Amino acid sequence: MDKRVTCCIAGGGPAGMMLGVLLARAGVKVLVLEKHKDFLRDFRGDTIHPSTLEVMDELGWLDELLKLPHQKVTKLTGQFGDTPLTMADLSHLPVKAKFIALMPQWDFLDFLAEKGRAYPSFALMMNAEALDLISDGTRITGVKVKTDDGPMTVNADLVVAADGRSSVLRKAAGLVGEDFGAPMDVMWFRLPRLPTDTDQSQARFDAGHLFVMLQRGDYWQCAYVIPKGGDAKVRAGGLDAFRKSVGRLLPFAADCANAIPDWDHVKLLTVMVDRLKEWARPGFLCIGDAAHAMSPVGGVGINLAIQDAVATANLLWQPLKQGRLRFEDLEAVQARRDFPTRATQRLQLTMQNAIIAPTLAATGKVRPPLLLRLLTGVPYLSRIPARLLGLGFRPEHVTAAIRAGKGS
Ligand SMILES: Cc1cc2nc3c(=O)[nH]c(=O)nc-3n(C[C@H](O)[C@H](O)[C@H](O)COP(=O)(O)OP(=O)(O)OC[C@H]3O[C@@H](n4cnc5c(N)ncnc54)[C@H](O)[C@@H]3O)c2cc1C
Repeated sequence: MDKRVTCCIAGGGPAGMMLGVLLARAGVKVLVLEKHKDFLRDFRGDTIHPSTLEVMDELGWLDELLKLPHQKVTKLTGQFGDTPLTMADLSHLPVKAKFIALMPQWDFLDFLAEKGRAYPSFALMMNAEALDLISDGTRITGVKVKTDDGPMTVNADLVVAADGRSSVLRKAAGLVGEDFGAPMDVMWFRLPRLPTDTDQSQARFDAGHLFVMLQRGDYWQCAYVIPKGGDAKVRAGGLDAFRKSVGRLLPFAADCANAIPDWDHVKLLTVMVDRLKEWARPGFLCIGDAAHAMSPVGGVGINLAIQDAVATANLLWQPLKQGRLRFEDLEAVQARRDFPTRATQRLQLTMQNAIIAPTLAATGKVRPPLLLRLLTGVPYLSRIPARLLGLGFRPEHVTAAIRAGKGS
């Protein structure tokens, strides 16, 4: 099977789906390849930040998106030992949706897929795994794909790797990442939420522990942060000890024994933070986690991936449509997104090293760090964390041409 498209995107995550939909809306013939049969997978982050909601508004889809089941977070609160702190209040942001929408990632991706299908130049292939790149010696010209019906070749003016942090295509292109390390990993699980529980999502910093609870309606999505590589040790300590430790961190009583019946209910996220030095080769570009795996601090991975997609579509739709794509156009994408990625990762690394690692190592009383007290205690200064969290360092806006839907 051979196919020919203008742009082939490997990976139907937030970055790949958003880029596919935007390019199709601009009239570029695009094919998104997704190796799974559907979007329904393990929890992998449900935070849709104001920057992404603003993009959805620019596309005229916000109200419809928000009809899907979701919870709103307007304030991020933390408890440092005995001291409560509002770490970010999103209610002042200069956008329409001044909150984080907690929505299952598969609902969001299904929504984008449905929007994409409305454009004649959009195609999405599920069960299609990109295996390798094809090159003519001077540029990447396509992808080799495994499908249920056998091997397939897709030829394209541009191949985009949006295949996540273990990207096979970035490896195939010989692109090298810089690994910045992380002092922690995260164990994710759910606890039922009772009507008597608080309804506030929150983070708890205690001696030796960092615990985050996201309010998801009838359950809590819980993140139990452990020192890097500590998963085996926690599991060796036994399920009962784990349940007790969780129980001590909860602000209310919960039946952890029934809620966590076995270790299969606890999923490990191995935290990594990395970034490619070069995001592109002639005919080839990496975006989202494939270009930069983000720390879970701030829950910004999905949103950075979406911002990459918006910038890519803005910069490339015209050269792609007019058949005059140059390597410099791809370099322009990296030039646009490198600074916000670097700055966000720098902030995440600072928080990892200055707040999270000391908390996990602490044996005595934990207090909020001075910088955080200053940033959250002084009016106006307190708007900085909210802005960085909600909108990021360089919010992207969909260009007028794409908004107008040249491809519909
Ligand atoms: C447990 C967990 C919790 C997280 N929590 C949060 C959170 O709360 N907030 C947040 O913002 N971020 C969170 N993240 C990170 C977030 O999921 C990513 O940053 C974000 O999804 C990146 O989007 P992406 O499109 O670049 O890559 P991905 O979401 O990784 O998407 C890549 C897609 O490509 C597909 N794929 C992979 N290889 C191939 C191939 N060879 N061919 C075809 N398809 C392929 C995959 O199936 C996947 O659908 C979390 C991640 C995990 C694992």
